[in-house]
Amino acid sequence: MSTDQADDRTMVGIAGAGQLARMTCLAAWPLGISVAVLGSPAEPSAGVCHRLVEGDWHNAEDVAALGAASGVVTLENEFVDAPALVAVEDAGTPVRPRPGTVGVIQDKADQKERLAGAGIPVPRFAVASTEAEVEALGRDLGWPLMLKARRLGYDGRGNALAESMADVPDALERLDRGEGVLVEEHVPFSAELAAMVARSSREELVYPVVETVQKDHVCHEVTTPVALAPGLEDEARRIALASAQAAESIGVMGVEMFLLDDRVVVNELAPRPHNSGHYSIEACETSQFENHLRGVLDLPLGPADLRAGGAAMVNLLGSYSAPSHHRTEEAMAVPGAHVHLYDKAEVRPGRKMGHVTALGESAESALATARRAAGLVRL
Ligand code: ATP
Ligand code: MG
Repeated sequence: MSTDQADDRTMVGIAGAGQLARMTCLAAWPLGISVAVLGSPAEPSAGVCHRLVEGDWHNAEDVAALGAASGVVTLENEFVDAPALVAVEDAGTPVRPRPGTVGVIQDKADQKERLAGAGIPVPRFAVASTEAEVEALGRDLGWPLMLKARRLGYDGRGNALAESMADVPDALERLDRGEGVLVEEHVPFSAELAAMVARSSREELVYPVVETVQKDHVCHEVTTPVALAPGLEDEARRIALASAQAAESIGVMGVEMFLLDDRVVVNELAPRPHNSGHYSIEACETSQFENHLRGVLDLPLGPADLRAGGAAMVNLLGSYSAPSHHRTEEAMAVPGAHVHLYDKAEVRPGRKMGHVTALGESAESALATARRAAGLVRL
């Protein structure tokens, strides 16, 4: 880490310092791009950034300090208050993706409105504030219903599955923060898909479609390519691209989708690199982190083609609470496995501690390798 900027390179400021910022920093070094992160010295990217701006992305003054230290500001989460990002732009530092994009995405109801308004297929939805409104939606959309907090939901924590009206009072109590909740039909998906989209002001491209498997609402495994009925891969890519265009994204955007019998619908957008795109570090010509930087800086985008017949990623999630003592020798001995650790000092249940990626002739063979290695990592 250095604090001196001896040349006039643009400093990319990231409003956060977690594992996504860490992997973005690692992608920046070989390109000669400098990155400042906003966080504390204990966070995953503090040791690999060019500059640590000590502070907290929840705090508008700290976000302003990051803006003052940067030539352009970007994100690793969509929860940074949009008005704080507008203030960064007003003070002269561009924010990419734009504050307007972040503002629409950070409210799940506004996000769904934007997508639906652009003709993108999404589960049927509405906003409700009262039990009577949810009951009417239950008659209209059918039970069960998925209730979602409009803001600040992640890893399923802002969601409640309501089987019937009996579940609704508690769900409203927990999720409604004064602006109603998003109510969605519960879609009977056969798989969850995702695709990363990279955009600059001039170019755009879509990464391969992946299948994601969640465990306890947290992304667990990712594989690509996905065996889809003819035409559905193209359909998913088309929908992902249209979603990013509707949100006017810049840099990388993650598009989470549901696969139904013969069609694809969008679940949600993330205006930043995404867990389902980590495989791209080894598996694609240009990783999502590199293309995020390229898009944000308006540099040429790099191709996103797969470098192997198949690829898989398995997350390393904490299963207990303790200080972390990484033991990776056995996993590193698995040929074809790539181990990534995020340098978090404490293990906690469900906490994302790292991931393993493997390439193979097929998605299945890559997944077998990645699972074997992931099972050998001791956190
Ligand atoms: P994360 O941070 O994990 O991406 P989140 O907390 O923002 O997620 P969502 O992505 O909205 O929440 O939902 C989490 C999971 O709940 C989805 O991955 C999916 O498994 C399930 N889910 C969400 N919406 C629906 C729906 N309408 N029908 C069926 N399942 C759903
Ligand atoms: Mg999600």
